[in-house]
Amino acid sequence: MAEDVSFDQARKRVDELILLLDQYSHQYYVMDQPTIPDEEYDRLYRELVELEEKYPTLVQNDSPTQRVGGALLEGFSKVQHDTPMLSLDNAFSKEELQEFDQRISKALDSAYAYQCELKMDGLAVSLKYEEGKFKQAVTRGNGTEGEDVTTNVKTIRSIPLNLKEPLTLEARGEIYMPKTSFIALNQKREEQGAAVFANPRNAAAGTIRNLDPKVTASRNLSVFLYSLPRLEGKAVDSQSGALNLMDELGLKTNPERRVYESIEDVWDFVEEYQNKRSDLPYEIDGIVIKVNELTNQEKLGYTVKAPKWAIAYKFPAEEAETRLQTVEWSV
Ligand code: NAD
Repeated sequence: MAEDVSFDQARKRVDELILLLDQYSHQYYVMDQPTIPDEEYDRLYRELVELEEKYPTLVQNDSPTQRVGGALLEGFSKVQHDTPMLSLDNAFSKEELQEFDQRISKALDSAYAYQCELKMDGLAVSLKYEEGKFKQAVTRGNGTEGEDVTTNVKTIRSIPLNLKEPLTLEARGEIYMPKTSFIALNQKREEQGAAVFANPRNAAAGTIRNLDPKVTASRNLSVFLYSLPRLEGKAVDSQSGALNLMDELGLKTNPERRVYESIEDVWDFVEEYQNKRSDLPYEIDGIVIKVNELTNQEKLGYTVKAPKWAIAYKFPAEEAETRLQTVEWSV
């Protein structure tokens, strides 16, 4: 594709793609009402990445490849994140996972392992605790600044208001809506003549960013936490260690996870969960693979948009369609 494109053609197409992707992102991130399927968005995004890779001078600061998320919703206070809440780079094939592993192996001179986690299709959130007490919840927003959704998040029963130890920390994770709650919500909305949500991800995002906490409380959201960017008075040295500590503290993590030393084993995990996907009570759209040791993560570092030590393998599109139909038919 991108190989045959001249510089002038590329420049025109890059402008078109940025405009298009910005419009779709606004619908998705700000309105919580996507107008195209994710697979289509991902295809256009990839086309932009390829053109920017071929002609790096065409990379604009406001390109979606250089930014996380979208604009913030009015009505919530804005909060600056202590450290950016980034996105993840994607892989769509076994070969791309192997290329990721080759990059890691080249950059590291010590042994490493991978923590494999399910990629929850929800909304990223940061939770702050001071001396064990829940203080604040903020959405990812544009990665640098998010929306203060503390009052709404307090209504989610799986989020503890007190930790089992009086620690000061920040935990990040994904708020999601279980499949059964999503189906029930849409059925109710249909009966009321209200617009239905496109998928559980948009339903979760719309619910957490609703100005009435009673609405949030009535919609049965849940959470899986997956990182501890700040931790005082204790130390962990790996991603698996952070997940285990969160379990001990009463912060809910997803038990469907495993650590592997080879990318071949990682691929088996990907295939296993691709098969189990429709049986899970929540939506996942892939598998997140993270270099496990924090020292190795530090060595690998970050791009403007994502950690270099992690990658999200995205399940294929036809799987997604089958899955959605399964959900609808199982009502
Ligand atoms: P992403 O959803 O592909 O990946 C990053 C996010 O994964 C993180 O921010 C985090 O919230 C989440 N995540 C879930 N489980 C995780 C785990 N175990 N560990 C770490 N992170 C985990 O990236 P994005 O930047 O949030 O959004 C891009 C996605 O949004 C694409 O899938 C795209 O298709 C979709 N999108 C769709 C439209 C549309 O119009 N349909 C528009 C914009 C974006």
